[in-house]
Amino acid sequence: DLLVVGSANADLVVGVERRPGAGETVLGSDLALHPGGKGANQAVAAARLGARTALLARVGDDAHGRLLLDSQREAGVDTVGVLVGGAPTGVALITVDPSGDNSIVVSPGANGRLVPEDIRAAVSLLHASSVVSAQLEIPLETVVEVARNLPDGTRFVLNPSPPQPLPDELLAACDPLIVNEHEARVIAGGDLGSSPEDWARALLALGPRSVVVTLGAEGALVASAEGSVRVPSVKVEAVDTTGAGDAFTAALAWKLGTGAELAEAAAYAARVGAAAVTKAGAQVSFPTAEEVASLRGA
Ligand code: ADP
Repeated sequence: DLLVVGSANADLVVGVERRPGAGETVLGSDLALHPGGKGANQAVAAARLGARTALLARVGDDAHGRLLLDSQREAGVDTVGVLVGGAPTGVALITVDPSGDNSIVVSPGANGRLVPEDIRAAVSLLHASSVVSAQLEIPLETVVEVARNLPDGTRFVLNPSPPQPLPDELLAACDPLIVNEHEARVIAGGDLGSSPEDWARALLALGPRSVVVTLGAEGALVASAEGSVRVPSVKVEAVDTTGAGDAFTAALAWKLGTGAELAEAAAYAARVGAAAVTKAGAQVSFPTAEEVASLRGA
């Protein structure tokens, strides 16, 4: 079974002709409200593929929290690990301009109140999981606590987003660490070189057992002590890449839990990511296993 530990946010999206300056008011489009946050997205993506999935997260005792719980349950995610209360549900305030560029303010809210003690109290969930997947939209010390409490034989997958330098103890638990170019640069620091193979080498030197670098339409690179291999994506008509990285990570984590080798899991995840970019939105764009199987390149 897969356990996702991470964030749940309500995404509040308004279209604007242009963004207001200080002291200014502009009128926007009708509000769109979507369930989001990397943890919630990953859990929905995995469950939609057919994975037995649980989410460990924190939402507020409010309407946004209920929206998030409903979207998880509708996808088939086990929500016993979703804690309620302590602060308002996390929100992302998103304006989109006519060119499609986003400006985003995130209020972490309850995500910031998911504390190490919550992980210790949920150790039975960790023990019921063959794979645990985390991101960094919750406090770093909480993610470190997850790594400390992993049962023997449970695999840990980390997408360090938004990126920050990571403690050695956390890096050592990752198998794999999943990054895009920006995350690779923040985590490895310094002059990384220009090829994904260079980035993967620099990251492996920091201690994770394996590294996956996602490369958008180019697919991904999988690297470990045994060497590295490129995994292609499927050529598709990209409509909206929101959530593609979350869908990729969720699919990869789930496949690892079924016993797949890393390169094989990444190849499947690349197809899932490609399917997710063919539709607008995040959670609503995540494919079923049947949709992944029938995905044809453009
Ligand atoms: P992130 O959103 O974290 O930067 P990527 O953009 O690399 O992640 O996307 C994750 C995965 O989704 C990629 O590895 C790839 O498999 C798939 N993907 C993303 N964009 C495209 C695209 N335009 N065409 C095909 N596959 C894509």
